Amino acid sequence: MKYSSETVEKAIHELSKLPGIGRKMAQRHVFFLLKQSESQVKQLAESLVDLKLKVIHCSICFNVTESDPCKICAGETRDRTMICVVEEANDVLALEKTGEYKGLYHVLGGALSPLDGIGPDNLHVRELLLRLEEAVQEIIIATNPNTEGEATALYLSKLIKPMNIRISRIARGIPVGADLEYADEVTLARAIEGRREY
Ligand code: ZN
Repeated sequence: MKYSSETVEKAIHELSKLPGIGRKMAQRHVFFLLKQSESQVKQLAESLVDLKLKVIHCSICFNVTESDPCKICAGETRDRTMICVVEEANDVLALEKTGEYKGLYHVLGGALSPLDGIGPDNLHVRELLLRLEEAVQEIIIATNPNTEGEATALYLSKLIKPMNIRISRIARGIPVGADLEYADEVTLARAIEGRREY
């Protein structure tokens, strides 16, 4: 069954493309929005367009930012001898919330997944290696504890180990198969603390 308004149908169609939102939930959101004032809906629409106009990726760590380098890379109090490697920018936020980690980050942009055709060249691996020529003494690999995340961690450890840099994997407190971004702050803080050297 389709609504007689094409505009309503189009909005439902667009919203249902978002992860975790099916047609039913998209319908609910659309009818909620129809009840809002024009200025409220405009604010939402503008904030979405701004995502594409204003947000860029840091040219050093590939975190999302509006200024390049990002605030973490430019931060004067950060420990520049450590880089924590994560899959997505979302994971940076999760780790920052723990307040436990003071080093730098590197966002890979995903994890190795040969079945999906994602190899090292599709991730920011080369850029990570270039950063290792600086003052870096330790790499903490905080990829997700699933098959792809573990394969990525192993790949990186083999690549980096010969470079005489300490390399560790965050501890397993995080449930296997879970995404880092869903782990609570205490668990994440413990996972960093309990990291194991390769
Ligand atoms: Zn950065």
